[in-house]
Amino acid sequence: MKISEYLKKDEFSLSFEVFPPKTDASLESVRAATVAVAKLGPDFVSVTCGAGGGGGRLTLDIAQTIRRETGVETLEHLTCVGAKREAIQSHLETLKAEGMENIMALRGDLPAGVTQSDLDTTPYPHAVNLVREIKASGDFCVGAACYPEVHPESRDQRDDLCHLKEKVDAGVDFLTTQMFFDNNLLYNFLYKLRETGVTVPVLPGIMPITGANQVERARKLSGSFMPRRFTSLVDRFGSDPAAMKQAGIIYATDQIIDLFANGIRHVHVYTMNKPDVAAAIQQNLSAMLGSRL
Ligand code: FAD
Repeated sequence: MKISEYLKKDEFSLSFEVFPPKTDASLESVRAATVAVAKLGPDFVSVTCGAGGGGGRLTLDIAQTIRRETGVETLEHLTCVGAKREAIQSHLETLKAEGMENIMALRGDLPAGVTQSDLDTTPYPHAVNLVREIKASGDFCVGAACYPEVHPESRDQRDDLCHLKEKVDAGVDFLTTQMFFDNNLLYNFLYKLRETGVTVPVLPGIMPITGANQVERARKLSGSFMPRRFTSLVDRFGSDPAAMKQAGIIYATDQIIDLFANGIRHVHVYTMNKPDVAAAIQQNLSAMLGSRL
């Protein structure tokens, strides 16, 4: 089923993100963890891929395994930076043949030493080019990324929103946000986004930080602002893994409750392949999620 159909529902719901292994060596353990995440019964599970372009074999493997073993809908991420047109087209044909209806269209991070101008002569300098290719190749439901705190390569928010509008107009059906730790930043972003004329559903992406070692990685990856309330929690509990995990789950839950209370119905949780963390958040929200548990 297309994700755009799930997003029409009135009830509160969650979807989960998982990632594939980097090599075949850990494929079995990652399959087991991601299937356990899917068995919690989210609306859908998104499966990330590397930035290489052309479609990840292991991304497809994990998505197929989830669909086969749980029946839960999947969303495959597809990156295009540096990809050849034939590789993308052939991957799209594979997805079609497998009955995959949902694709998250991403540029991917620039490889070290590559600048945006190096990409200008390639088939897919930006995600918008990939969105056009996907839409031309079949009846896919297409998701894309957005950045409440502005993409790090953008000159400013106006520039970022202008490119985002172009990407959505190319055929994006829904957007998922980069992680954020202060909901007010999301609300400000949504206000500006709607003013820009973008009306597709936006899924806020929530990252539960359950270990102090995740903090720096999250900051580097997203450049997200970390409010004092969040950094205090890491300062106080970061050296106690059990307490940090509990506090991180509660912080993420609290963000989701605030989002639900302020008009958001669907939230995407970055599970980091941790079924216990996803389950704890889901349990904390059980009365809100109602019959979905
Ligand atoms: P784009 O939409 O191309 O935007 C990148 C930059 O270019 C922005 O600054 C934008 O404003 C600018 N821009 C866009 N169009 C134009 C244009 N026409 N002219 C000039 N400038 C333009 N990475 C992975 O490798 N694998 C994943 O699975 C993955 N999943 C992600 C999921 C989510 C929800 C998010 C938020 C990010 C994910 N990423 C993933 C990271 C993403 O690939 C990087 O953030 C990347 O740097 C940008 O990708 P994009 O698709 O947003 O690019």
